[in-house]
Amino acid sequence: MLEEIADRLGVELFFEPTLVFKDEKDICVIGLYRWIIKGYCPFFDKQTRLCTIHDSKPLACKMYPLLVEMPTNRLMVSAKCEWIRKHGVKLLKRLENKPELIPAVFPGEFEAVKDVLLEFRAIEGIVKEKNLKRVGDLKECKRAYDLDDYITRFG
Ligand code: SF4
Repeated sequence: MLEEIADRLGVELFFEPTLVFKDEKDICVIGLYRWIIKGYCPFFDKQTRLCTIHDSKPLACKMYPLLVEMPTNRLMVSAKCEWIRKHGVKLLKRLENKPELIPAVFPGEFEAVKDVLLEFRAIEGIVKEKNLKRVGDLKECKRAYDLDDYITRFG
């Protein structure tokens, strides 16, 4: 989806595998990519200071300023968020001490967190079912596929 928008806008995006597994035949499966942004995001409009792909932005953007610590699922709020800075450290401290208030303060963002966790659970399920082992990088692989490609090819 993001790549399609980027193609349409003539924007180049860079991704790095961040969650890689290997099967018993040394074929690697990339579970997740990290989007590398150097400088400003290409979808950020510097004049309006708004996201130009608001409705289609990635889940990581949709859930911001919420962060999830894996694998504990601990929910946190980023202290780097401008809105949080504006509302002061008091709110941040309150949410740190009472994380159960986070969904009420950030309802839309919390929905995105739920979608992210569902994706993680789906990846975990496939990893378990296929008996894949986590590896550090792609150097350990004969070949590598995205998770979807891997499932399409090998079932
Ligand atoms: S919300 Fe995400 S996609 Fe939109 S401008 Fe910010 S970093 Fe880019």
